[in-house]
Amino acid sequence: PFDVLIVGGGPAGAAAAIYAARKGIRTGVVSERFGGQVLDTLAIENFISVKATDGPKLAAGLEEHVREYDVDIMDLQRAEALLPQAAGSLTEIRLASGATLRSKTVILATGARWREMNVPGEKEYRGHGVAYCPHCDGPLFKGKRVAVIGGGNSGVEAAIDLAGIVGHVTLLEFEATLRADAVLQKKLFSLGNVEVITEALSTQVSGDGEKVDGLLYTDRASGEKRRIDLAGIFVQIGLLPNSEWLKGTLELSPRGEIEIDARCATSLPGVFAAGDVTTVPYKQIVVAMGEGTKAALTAFDHLIRSEPC
Ligand code: FAD
Repeated sequence: PFDVLIVGGGPAGAAAAIYAARKGIRTGVVSERFGGQVLDTLAIENFISVKATDGPKLAAGLEEHVREYDVDIMDLQRAEALLPQAAGSLTEIRLASGATLRSKTVILATGARWREMNVPGEKEYRGHGVAYCPHCDGPLFKGKRVAVIGGGNSGVEAAIDLAGIVGHVTLLEFEATLRADAVLQKKLFSLGNVEVITEALSTQVSGDGEKVDGLLYTDRASGEKRRIDLAGIFVQIGLLPNSEWLKGTLELSPRGEIEIDARCATSLPGVFAAGDVTTVPYKQIVVAMGEGTKAALTAFDHLIRSEPC
């Protein structure tokens, strides 16, 4: 059995693997796609101490660093179930392949995915005008016109944030009213370069073949089809944690995030969690790496305090 088995090979899982392996304990990483969301990212300009890099380069760097150590990497494997340990026994992770892995401690780092609008042009222009992370990509649209899709807290926060960087923000909400907290709405409506359109159903991302040049939507009240010329579209309709397979086994928040404490412990003994799949605020690469580190050190602390099994 493993001492530490990490599920997920994104920034959180990679950091956890390196910290665990450096303790000289038996470490494994099982991942569907080593690199995680980073593989889908173009420009990365907030990976502190590296002025600019891109996703594939950072993902290759993660793997190269993990492979420096004696870590058993099991890539292209999906975990399907976690079977909690009975007192003193091992936690089991069942894979889609049918295999079962056993470990004294488990770190869950399965990340998250952005909910998409699912309209024509969205996938094609992802990274070429269609963006999901204002902290990451806001500065790329300095002085330009952008839209934010979604009038919940994350959409309204994104619009306020972007209004300070870009030329103009149009926020589109499907319902007749915004769902964001009143204090955020008040701030939003106080800004001079923001327009809010409600009852808007986004129907298509338009582009010139290389990058986004507009957004088509239907005014649900009148049925009229409209177009906005713009350079960027920030989709803010939800971040979905990859935790469906854990439902019923440990405590999840109402949004499905794994509940963790300040040391990355979950509600199950010997099971820790890190990164975007957890309740940690701010889903960013450097945050995920820090969380993976914390989870590995907490798992090690758990091992040295446990009875040998
Ligand atoms: P992830 O990167 O999501 O990795 C999860 C891992 O778990 C993957 O290996 C996945 O294959 C695996 N996995 C999932 N389910 C299972 C399962 N059931 N069994 C086995 N393995 C599983 N952040 C920044 O700081 N700067 C940026 O510029 C930036 N730009 C971004 C641009 C885009 C388009 C996206 C999508 C995100 C961006 N982010 C950026 C956010 C950043 O990528 C995430 O915060 C970070 O990758 C989270 O790391 P993680 O390890 O928690 O999860």
